[in-house]
Amino acid sequence: MTDTAAQDELLIARLRERGLRVTAQRLVLHRAIRGMSEHATAEEILTTASPLLPNLSLPTVYSTLELLEELDLVRRAPGIGSGPVLYEPRPEPHGHFACRRCGRVEDLDADVDLGPAVAAAGAARMAPDGAEVVVTGLCAQCAAESAAVSSPTP
Ligand SMILES: [Zn+2]
Ligand SMILES: [Zn+2]
Repeated sequence: MTDTAAQDELLIARLRERGLRVTAQRLVLHRAIRGMSEHATAEEILTTASPLLPNLSLPTVYSTLELLEELDLVRRAPGIGSGPVLYEPRPEPHGHFACRRCGRVEDLDADVDLGPAVAAAGAARMAPDGAEVVVTGLCAQCAAESAAVSSPTP
């Protein structure tokens, strides 16, 4: 079985579990997200999937992403500030780096035990349902640009 076929099967199984219809739109959008190497905005996903779904609109992309999120097939990457919502195909929790200047969000693989943070939230009578690491600062490109600006050549 190819990767695509396996991914389709997973989506079809999750849709059927909920008694939801399997549509071309859902299949194509799910494939488009799976094919992304990085985090993407709904607009980028629209651009990728449009050639295959000519009548696709942004609201449809958003509602399908929401559905895929509910089915645990896609997640929202934590951004910072007012940047656009970014979606990603890695459903398992992982760390992120968010750039304060350009808004770029990248995956960070760091094993951090967030259990104590979740426990502290629980102890404060909150109802935590997850925790993840977001490191903020300047991405490599912005850091290089900022270094170039702060040390001009004489
Ligand atoms: Zn940046
Ligand atoms: Zn990520």
